[in-house]
Amino acid sequence: MVSERSATNAQDQKLRSTMAEAARRLVVLGLNRGATGNIGVRQGDSFLVTPSGVAAEDLLPHAMVEMDYSGAILGPGKPSSEWRFHRDILAARPEVGAVVHTHACYATSLACLQLEIPAFHYMMAVAGGDTIRCTPYAIFGSQELSDLALQALVDRKACLLGNHGMIAVGVDLGDALAVAIEVESLCEQYWAALQLGQPKLLSGAQMQAVLEKFKGYGRAATRTDSP
Ligand SMILES: [Zn+2]
Repeated sequence: MVSERSATNAQDQKLRSTMAEAARRLVVLGLNRGATGNIGVRQGDSFLVTPSGVAAEDLLPHAMVEMDYSGAILGPGKPSSEWRFHRDILAARPEVGAVVHTHACYATSLACLQLEIPAFHYMMAVAGGDTIRCTPYAIFGSQELSDLALQALVDRKACLLGNHGMIAVGVDLGDALAVAIEVESLCEQYWAALQLGQPKLLSGAQMQAVLEKFKGYGRAATRTDSP
């Protein structure tokens, strides 16, 4: 019989490995480069966050830093400078199990214009509503940035950070990763559409119908075999 403690350790190890894999996947998919971007995952009463300044290819499971919701570091290592928004999102949104932050090219390009993305495509519903909001600029690692991100994420699973990048959240890391991938794809499509003219936007009723339909799909809406 596996003791409670060793089962907890096994879960902890699995989570850490999943985070390292996800960080590498973000690089492979072109959503991150070098040591930018970071991941936070809920773990009971605490959370794990990727360490500061480590490139994804060098990221080992044991390097993930455990923190509590007061901001205290429970495990060895230095957490990502963005630990505040990981903490604040996980604390404020009980349905969220994981947070992914990237400087993906198209999302970041639009964030540099501080553009709110309108309902130009029905897949916008993946982000939880008919817009993807963009925060004003605030310096990285600040409580101000975290507060702005939390506001931009109300009723949403993603937002852009002004002159910085994007945040995607999900019930677990797989879900948050899928949202991040879809948001980058939407940002690329919106950018491309803007080269041709002004995209025709879907109405509130049309987006509401998609949001209703997505409820039936559940997580399938963010998978590659999505509608
Ligand atoms: Zn960043």
